[in-house]
Amino acid sequence: MKNIFKNSMILALVVMSYSCNEKNTETTSTSEVKTQAKTIKQDPINSILTAEEQADMSPDEIIGRLKKGNENFVSNNLTMRDHSSQRREAMIGQYPQAIVLSCVDSRVPVEDVFDLGIGDIFVARVAGNIENKDIVGSMEFATAVAGSKVVIVMGHTACGAVKSAIDKVDAASMEMNALQNLLDEIQPSIDATTKMGEVSSKNEEFTNNVIVTNAHITVEDIRKQSPKMASLEKEGKIKIVPAVYDMATGKVKFM
Ligand SMILES: [Zn+2]
Repeated sequence: MKNIFKNSMILALVVMSYSCNEKNTETTSTSEVKTQAKTIKQDPINSILTAEEQADMSPDEIIGRLKKGNENFVSNNLTMRDHSSQRREAMIGQYPQAIVLSCVDSRVPVEDVFDLGIGDIFVARVAGNIENKDIVGSMEFATAVAGSKVVIVMGHTACGAVKSAIDKVDAASMEMNALQNLLDEIQPSIDATTKMGEVSSKNEEFTNNVIVTNAHITVEDIRKQSPKMASLEKEGKIKIVPAVYDMATGKVKFM
C-alpha cells in the first residue's frame, strides 16, 4: 500500500513537472516570437535606393512614399537606419527619388520630415526657398541626369525670410546687399497675394498665404527657367509640386 502511494506520488510529480516544463516552453516560445517580431520591426535599413528601384517608381508613387514618410515623422515613428552601412553602400553611386527645395531654416529638417536618409533625396536650401540659376541647375542635374522624378518646392510656416520681406526690412541700409536681393525675390509673391487686413508679418493669415503663393511662384519660375524640366514634366516623366511644412504639426501639405 505504501509502495502504491509512493509510486502514485512519483507519477503525480512527474506529470506536474512535465506540465510545468510544457508551460515554460510555451512561455519561452511566445516570448521568443515577440522578441523576433520586435527585432524585425526595429531592423535598421542598411541599403540605399538602387537604379532599378528608382526606375520602377512613378512620380505619383514617389509622392505617395513621401506622404507616408511624413506621416511617420508626424507620429514620431522614424525608420531606424544603419548609417555606417548605408554610407559604405552609397560609395557605389546614388539614385535619389526626388529633389526638395527648402528654406535654410534650422527648424525644417528635410530628410527627417519625410523619414528619409542617405541616398534617398537631393536637398537644395536657400532662405525663402526661392529659385535661382544655380538651384535650377542643381534640379536639372537631379532630374535629367541623376534620374529623380519629383521636384518639391517646400515653404514653411513662420518663415523669417518671408516675414522680413513682408515687413520691408531694409537689409541694404545695413550693408547686406545680398540679403536685400534675396528679400526682393520674395516681393512678387507678396504682390500676388490677396491683401486681407494689414500687410504685416503679424497678420498670420496673410503671411501664410504669401508662403503658399511663394511656393507656387517658385514652381512656375523653375518651369520657365528650365525648358528641359518643363518638357520632362509635360511627358509625365517628372512632377514639380509646391508644398508647405507646418512647423506646429510637422505635417507637409502638398498642393
Ligand atoms: Zn524660412
